[in-house]
Amino acid sequence: VDETGIVTYKKIRSNDLMMCIQTGIRHSVSKLASKPDRDLLMKDFAIVEKVFHKKEGTVSTPAHGLNDFTFKSYAPIAFRYFRELFGIQPDDYMLSLCDRAMIEISNPGASGSIFYLTEDDEFILKTVMYREAEFLQKLLAGYYMNLNQNPRTLLPKFFGQYCYQSLGKNVRIICMNNLLPSKVKYHQKFDLKGSTYKRQANAHERQKQVPTLKDLDFMQIYPEGIFLEPDTYDLLIRTIRRDCTVLESFKIMDYSLLIGIHNIDLACKEEAESVKNAGDAGAAEEPFSNSQSMRGSQSPVMQQQQDLQSHASPLGTMFRVRNKGSQEGSGRTSQRTSRPPLIRTKTNREKFAALVQEPTAARTQLYSKIQEGNRDGSQILPDGVLAWNTKGERLLLFMGVIDILQCYKLRKKMEHTVKSVVLDGDSISVCHPSFYSRRFQDFMAEKVFRKVPTGMFPSHDESS
Ligand code: ATP
Ligand code: CA
Ligand code: CA
Repeated sequence: VDETGIVTYKKIRSNDLMMCIQTGIRHSVSKLASKPDRDLLMKDFAIVEKVFHKKEGTVSTPAHGLNDFTFKSYAPIAFRYFRELFGIQPDDYMLSLCDRAMIEISNPGASGSIFYLTEDDEFILKTVMYREAEFLQKLLAGYYMNLNQNPRTLLPKFFGQYCYQSLGKNVRIICMNNLLPSKVKYHQKFDLKGSTYKRQANAHERQKQVPTLKDLDFMQIYPEGIFLEPDTYDLLIRTIRRDCTVLESFKIMDYSLLIGIHNIDLACKEEAESVKNAGDAGAAEEPFSNSQSMRGSQSPVMQQQQDLQSHASPLGTMFRVRNKGSQEGSGRTSQRTSRPPLIRTKTNREKFAALVQEPTAARTQLYSKIQEGNRDGSQILPDGVLAWNTKGERLLLFMGVIDILQCYKLRKKMEHTVKSVVLDGDSISVCHPSFYSRRFQDFMAEKVFRKVPTGMFPSHDESS
């Protein structure tokens, strides 16, 4: 924020930057439409497309009224292929990113990156450093080899990489999936690394309505961890271990597991409270009266959340593979015929967010629609992972691995030698990738997640 109270990045007004990025992406993606679909080639990873955007516009670029800028799109054909793999149609991508102003979200990290969230809640744009951008380019081929081998990964989905250049400044941007749908109420958010060194949210962060807490905070709030069904636990930990092996092989470190926790039982209580308060205040509207799922005296919220419990997929935030034929979209579909199965990120998560959010008839309808889709195999149900806290309250977890563009070789060597002399090498987060990876895995497997012991929670035992 500059002296006049305007948000800037590298002295560029954030709003102008957003406009230029949108102009650049729109142009780049629409131009792609004329390039024929074909199989991905190794050389596609190295292509950098460069377009000069003149203020007044040209025959091929629109006028934008801001400073002239150059917009680079990295590996455009490769990213198009990945977007398609994730089930994102070109039109959808462009609409999400370019049609509406994005929302700038405050970054609790120390890096000074700017984050933009698209209005439809799907994508996050993050500004990254030169070395991170360069690293992503090198990583792409191997990274997506992994994606093919292990579609159930928790690693971030990258949808695009760009660079805005103007007046001698470069702003590098990556586009990725938003892990925490903003419609869901989070009772807590954690950014976990498995390190204890300085891993506590600071006072400034704590003042926020939903602060991003860290490892030490987690151990205080969940001294016994979060409980999962044994099968879910095994699947999750296996996935985390596999992902860590990949990250380690690229000498990546400093990544985190981001977890958003929605406490179902607490949310029910809160909803009931607010209904009661509204009633006390004389507001006559009965929020559950339209619901079709009124069974007995139970509120539909409770009912749906129970339904949710019995249907939540064990590892939802991971990729789901959908049948191509059943794909929903914005109308236009791809010309391709023989493609690997689509990995769709959008539809289910949106629906799911709506489910958690609205205690209305709409929610009931949505829910049965998803159930239907689930039954005939065209859609696979929600993205939340069901869990319990020690009190036996039901939790829904939204999670994924983030911030994976930090390579040991490039940044960490110096810091490590300096710090490890002073501090216990075991508890600092600056260390070797293989150590980092092992500590991360062990922390998740032992401290963060636990198998739910039989007989611990009556509600759990009933449902199983
Ligand atoms: P630092 O390097 O200082 O840790 P950074 O600028 O690299 O910070 P990240 O660690 O990538 O930033 O992310 C910072 C915070 O932004 C996360 O703790 C999380 O709250 C939020 N965030 C990042 N990526 C995502 C995502 N894909 N979905 C939702 N939230 C995200
Ligand atoms: Ca980080
Ligand atoms: Ca970072």
